[in-house]
Amino acid sequence: MQNIPALKPRRRSIAIRVGAITIGGDAPVAIQSMTNTDTADIEATTRQVAALAAAGSELVRMTVNTEKAAAAVPRIRDRLARQGVTVPLIGDFHFNGHRLLDAHPECGEALDKLRVNPGNVGRGSRRDPQFTTVIEAACRFEKPVRIGVNWGSLDQDLLTGLMNENARSATPREARDIMFDAMVESALRSAARAEQIGLGHDQIILSCKMSRVQDLIRVYRTLASRCEYPLHLGLTEAGMGTKGIVASTAGLAVLLAEGIGDTIRVSLTPEPGASRTKEVLVAQEILQTMGLRAFMPVVTACPGCGRTTSTVFQELAQEIQSYIRIRMPTWKHKYPGVEEMRVAVMGCVVNGPGESKHANIGISLPGSGERPVAPVFENGRKTVTLKGDTIAAEFQQLVEAYVKRTYSSSAT
Ligand code: SF4
Repeated sequence: MQNIPALKPRRRSIAIRVGAITIGGDAPVAIQSMTNTDTADIEATTRQVAALAAAGSELVRMTVNTEKAAAAVPRIRDRLARQGVTVPLIGDFHFNGHRLLDAHPECGEALDKLRVNPGNVGRGSRRDPQFTTVIEAACRFEKPVRIGVNWGSLDQDLLTGLMNENARSATPREARDIMFDAMVESALRSAARAEQIGLGHDQIILSCKMSRVQDLIRVYRTLASRCEYPLHLGLTEAGMGTKGIVASTAGLAVLLAEGIGDTIRVSLTPEPGASRTKEVLVAQEILQTMGLRAFMPVVTACPGCGRTTSTVFQELAQEIQSYIRIRMPTWKHKYPGVEEMRVAVMGCVVNGPGESKHANIGISLPGSGERPVAPVFENGRKTVTLKGDTIAAEFQQLVEAYVKRTYSSSAT
């Protein structure tokens, strides 16, 4: 069979330091997230940044929209440092970023990266000087900048100019095509302008976020072909629940498979009362499912069918997943490589033994009409058979012992 790689090699991009991490170049695709607290609320924002970092966010962005928010940023940075949280912080500036960065230099100092949206930096004659002020601040503080274009706030002056040009053309194109061009042009022209102002070529990250999957793929393919800046991927306004997860995954997976993307954010709307950290877990699962990074052991579970008469195997799959999540903070320090482990929880003899043999450790539960026993397989070999009401607890003990035996630094 012809050996066709599943993923294209990563697009070549410039490596950029953001705090202690690298984005682009050969660095793994980084995960970022954004707070939804009022940045001026120092306690709530510090708590949420710490939670996002603990969940695995490698950069955290917060809006800097008011004087109070700008004044809060260095205090949030200090509080995080006292807690031992060193995650790079990004300031999101719109409309008044030029004024805030001028009035609060300690805010610019405390941040590791600035994000500026060329569509929201000011209108008409105010746009260029205000953009210049933000970029000059970034140069002064020696911070990289993400030039983040967004479909919902596209630079209207640029769009109008391109539309007029198109109207004068002998072969005018569809208005939608011109809008896609305007997204890419807004990012590239703003990057060129930032370099003229003095920002380093290796201090710029670009994004062009769209809210529809096909549009996102199209715009990023163009952007990727026209520059070597690292690209931040994300579907904007992805939405809530399964819709948001599926839409983000569909868009990001296609681009990542084409080698496009150096850092990602999954923009989920949290369900009421749900944790903000879900967007980090989804981002991790996208990268791990695609084989780009490993964060956590994967549990393979069959969907269940008419051969399973009870919910035992669903409960077991859920319990082992929770157990792994709880144990992972300890495991990842004590047992390097454990994040690559595969665990299988299967519902009956049809696919159970086969799938369990492919996993590092797997269990095949009895389906209806089968003997009430559950064989366990480790590294492809049956090791023990469990039965009775304590299968879940016993399987967890077996997983714990497997991890200790296999991933201890002294293990061979
Ligand atoms: S492994 Fe068995 S229980 Fe699970 S889906 Fe397949 S046939 Fe159904």
